[in-house]
Amino acid sequence: MAYDQNNIFAKILRGEAPYIEVYEDDATLAFMDVMPQAEGHTLVIPRAAAESLFDLRRDDYAALARTTQHVAAAVKKAIGSPGLMIAQLNGTEAGQTVFHIHNHIIPRWNGIDMKLHSRELADMKVLEEQAERIRAAL
Ligand code: AMP
Repeated sequence: MAYDQNNIFAKILRGEAPYIEVYEDDATLAFMDVMPQAEGHTLVIPRAAAESLFDLRRDDYAALARTTQHVAAAVKKAIGSPGLMIAQLNGTEAGQTVFHIHNHIIPRWNGIDMKLHSRELADMKVLEEQAERIRAAL
């Protein structure tokens, strides 16, 4: 499948769609997931146009990994979760819904199940407040 320049993350990267920023650098951007599966659910994307793991240049994948590690540490500290999951879905069969590669950073606790994927829009004020705490922990 050819990369769709109008996918929502491509629009975010071009400044054509709103997002709640956590971190950015030359190669990557991190922002709050608007339908979080847990408190503090954050996404990291490369600026490079790539649909999945298999389309991403090695340097861009390295940048994605670096930012993910950096932001995950801040999410864990700011949200105070004992566990933290990194997930990355490739293809509809794996559950991918946005076709610009991204890493999910999802805090986890014992006895608290993750919410369903891409279901419930969060209160943007709550996400803004979480993003502020995460940014302060970077
Ligand atoms: P995936 O199914 O792995 O492709 O995940 C896509 C993720 O993007 C889901 O967790 C959605 O909640 C999230 N998402 C979709 N649209 C937006 C948006 N405009 N801003 C932030 N997150 C989004």
